[in-house]
Amino acid sequence: MRKKVLLLGSTGSIGTSALKVAQDLPDRMEIVGLAACRSSEQLLAQARETGVKHIALTDDDAAAAATPQLPAGVTLHRGPNALVDLVNACDADMVLVAIVGTAGLAPTLAAIERGMSLAVASKEILVMAGEAVMNAASRMKVDVLPVDSEHNAIFQCLEGHAHSQIRRILLTASGGPFRNLPADQLAGVTVAQALKHPTWTMGRKITIDSSTLFNKGLEMIEARWLFDVPMSQIEVVVHPQSIVHSMVEFVDNSVIAQLSHSDMCFPIQYAVTWPDRVANTLPPLDFAQLGSLTFEKPRTADFPALDLARHAGDTGGTLPAVLNAANEVAVEAFLTERISFPKIWQTVERVMNAHQTISHPTLEAIIDADAWARQEAAR
Ligand code: NDP
Repeated sequence: MRKKVLLLGSTGSIGTSALKVAQDLPDRMEIVGLAACRSSEQLLAQARETGVKHIALTDDDAAAAATPQLPAGVTLHRGPNALVDLVNACDADMVLVAIVGTAGLAPTLAAIERGMSLAVASKEILVMAGEAVMNAASRMKVDVLPVDSEHNAIFQCLEGHAHSQIRRILLTASGGPFRNLPADQLAGVTVAQALKHPTWTMGRKITIDSSTLFNKGLEMIEARWLFDVPMSQIEVVVHPQSIVHSMVEFVDNSVIAQLSHSDMCFPIQYAVTWPDRVANTLPPLDFAQLGSLTFEKPRTADFPALDLARHAGDTGGTLPAVLNAANEVAVEAFLTERISFPKIWQTVERVMNAHQTISHPTLEAIIDADAWARQEAAR
């Protein structure tokens, strides 16, 4: 089946990989809509290349710059509801949400209401509102396919197995660029050093999150919602080669793992072609050349993000949204050289400690908690 895919965040790292997959598999994937924030030139070029009829730009200046250059027959959605308008205008089977941050939440909920299946890269929306998203998806009977490589791997490992047979989910982590850096040197880490990921090429926010291990923390909470398991059944193991993308241990002590090169085209493709496996032009693994695959414990005392995320995931309610929002603000402050590297997790911890968690919050309460955490972190 050729799937019609609406791509939110098409100008980013995941977005451009998704376009590569669509080029590689023209019989399986057709792009029917594209969205970005500011990258108007790139978005227009993508619109010409793919021939889509609907695009969206959420930044006003970018939308104004794009308007005179719109290809014939293409509608540009703009303004605060641009992404939801795009979802409502497109005839898509699936929405691939690859927007950094939480701006993907409203269009995701709109897509569910229209019965479109979801391919989710934006872990922030599941961290913030996992319960609401998964409940809405289950009510509308839409599939939620994980694109994050770890969750896509777990999804593959779980196929054909009953939920009750899961003992542990083992999320693998590369350990980031500071895996071996002594703790007393973390305060001197520069933005350029933190942006040099050892195994993956990704957007700036997730690359910083990988260096603090907040990325893995967010992924633990993401896994909790995607696979409906308590945080106590989710563990992190450091695997510097990023070849094993995650593993599941079952009640019989057997472990199933998924392996491939570290290229996001693999999980994007599987989310789109699932339940089928389709031949592609991606490189196969050469085990003799890989040599060894190694595993170690994460340094939780030196990188507190994992314990903070475990606490947020265990507590639930509005606390994960607070962790996520405070982290976004702190990462931006680090990227603009206003705070030191350890101040990222110190800020998140202080904001979490100051928060009065609301259990089973409404969507409004989550959005309020997110806004409060941003203000508090900035302060
Ligand atoms: P990038 O920063 O590379 O790209 C972000 C994309 O989102 C861009 O297209 C950007 O548009 C768009 N965008 C940002 N804010 C808005 C907004 N308010 N409205 C509309 N579009 C917006 O990020 P990545 O591709 O690295 O990551 C995207 C998501 O996928 C994140 O949630 C990340 O955690 C997740 N992810 C990424 C992986 C990776 O390998 N990169 C792996 C697993 C998950 P513009 O260009 O105009 O700014």
